[in-house]
Amino acid sequence: MPELPEVETVVRQLDERLKGQKITAMTIFYPKMVKTDNTIFSESIIGQKISGVERFGKYILICLENKKVIRIHLRMEGKFYIVDTLVDESLEKHTHIIFHLDDGKYIKYHDVRKFGTMECIDYHDNWHTESKFATLGYEPWEKLCTPAFIFGRLQKSITPIKTFLLSQKTLVGLGNIYVDEVLFRAKIHPAQIAATLKESDAKMIKKQSEIVLRKAITLGGTTIRTYHNTFGIDGLFQNELQVHLQKGKGCPICGTEIIKEKLAGRGTYYCPSCQTIK
Ligand SMILES: [Zn+2]
Repeated sequence: MPELPEVETVVRQLDERLKGQKITAMTIFYPKMVKTDNTIFSESIIGQKISGVERFGKYILICLENKKVIRIHLRMEGKFYIVDTLVDESLEKHTHIIFHLDDGKYIKYHDVRKFGTMECIDYHDNWHTESKFATLGYEPWEKLCTPAFIFGRLQKSITPIKTFLLSQKTLVGLGNIYVDEVLFRAKIHPAQIAATLKESDAKMIKKQSEIVLRKAITLGGTTIRTYHNTFGIDGLFQNELQVHLQKGKGCPICGTEIIKEKLAGRGTYYCPSCQTIK
């Protein structure tokens, strides 16, 4: 499943290739993935120039000159391909939408699991004010994401810190891989109850989230299991993982064996010596 750094990588690639292009036509093979009425969706998009591609949380936002935005969530397996020619796409069962561009190229949306979604929404200067994004918190580098803000939220939560971070309601951007890495670097046990953490822990969570996510973005994300990035570019952050998927290996700090437990329904990796419940 793509997490924030992988989505950011896709967004940067799409922005570079699509900015200034006009969408001249569109073919929808799987109408159910488009959450906007298909006729309204087509009318809002066809003939429009792409002004840029942005990201909010794990959403991809293809912004159009008419201030409409195609909002996409890749979910488990969604991918984009930009191609020069089309084969008989109706025979390609995993291609669900094709956008035709005025330079003669095509953007294909491909999704084996069909969980991804697409819809047309209005542009917002501040995406935090968009109703569907209202439940999301801040990315660690956003101005309002201060240690005091995080600490205030921690104090009100009696869930394990891993569950707290996975919820995206306070801090946006940490999925299962990056949560494990951040908690290891912050020396916090994933099952520690959020409200029992100190202000210094909130500071470390913010700091390490920023470091881990920035590094992952620089490396193009993490390539594990089945998710490979769009355009055939594989991320390299898997080489930087210190605990995630490292069960049985020695902790890079103290040498203790990394363990894996199920927490919040997710495989959770940590060092039992560096990350103790306080
Ligand atoms: Zn350790």
